[in-house]
Amino acid sequence: MREDGRQGQDGMTYSELADSGVSRLKEAGFEEARMDVRHLLLHVSGKNPVALLCDGAEEVPEEQVQSFYRLLEQRMQHIPVQYITGEQEFCGLKFLVRPGVLIPRPETELLAEAVIRDSAGKRVLDLCTGSGCIAVAVAVLGTPEFTAATDCSEQALQTARENAALHSAEITFFQGDLLESVTGEYDIIVSNPPYICSGVIDGLMPEVRDFEPRPALDGGEDGLYFYRRICREAKGYLRKNGRLLLEIGYDQGRAVEELLLAEGYQEIEVKKDYAGLDRMVFAVLPDKNKENNNV
Ligand code: GLN
Repeated sequence: MREDGRQGQDGMTYSELADSGVSRLKEAGFEEARMDVRHLLLHVSGKNPVALLCDGAEEVPEEQVQSFYRLLEQRMQHIPVQYITGEQEFCGLKFLVRPGVLIPRPETELLAEAVIRDSAGKRVLDLCTGSGCIAVAVAVLGTPEFTAATDCSEQALQTARENAALHSAEITFFQGDLLESVTGEYDIIVSNPPYICSGVIDGLMPEVRDFEPRPALDGGEDGLYFYRRICREAKGYLRKNGRLLLEIGYDQGRAVEELLLAEGYQEIEVKKDYAGLDRMVFAVLPDKNKENNNV
């Protein structure tokens, strides 16, 4: 009997292997079984999506069958498929991901796109850069004059540097607690900080709860810890009429708007994601000197 439970039969085709993987995952209650299997098969076969589709009737080399079942086993342990394959697409670019960095989410693409659109000739800083997805997307797809990124985690920064190199993105990296080691002033500060309430994390799906880095998720007791600090501390690093663009949790729009108002930001806009949920807050820090004159 072989590891995959089949006995003495000839090779399997890609579509048979896919079907067998899908039914195993479905039986185990995985909802995105077909998507997961597709990613694992693309990874194992080294084929592109079109080739994999066209070659469905082709026989799979034995070593690929074995690797596929090995990876499927990992997926059955609830390891996110992106940590298994080591990659995730973001804004159409491939990013390396590994445990220790948050897996880039599709809703964060909206935040990156907003920065890309406004990046021409600007100095941009990505706070809590993680995998570097926002900074790299802005540097590659936008036209900033200068792009910087910071994170507290050395492990995350290592991945972010690799992603920058992968896309030949010129990014200056800083390591420290929020802005502590950042130098210079910026036209745009963008951040997708940790924003989940500490008490909620244990109830999240195992993929997130058990495998994604807790410091990248945990926004303190009320989820607002980092927004409080960012709204205050970013003021020292924003140029006149500089913009702060933040990703937020679906129920945090009001609270973050109030924090921004209290710190003197203006033109505050809460923006929705494709699901119609509040997902971002944009704000402008008016001329600091003018503000003082008005007092
Ligand atoms: N900026 C990264 C992302 O959006 C990491 C965010 C984080 O670790 N909280 O994926």
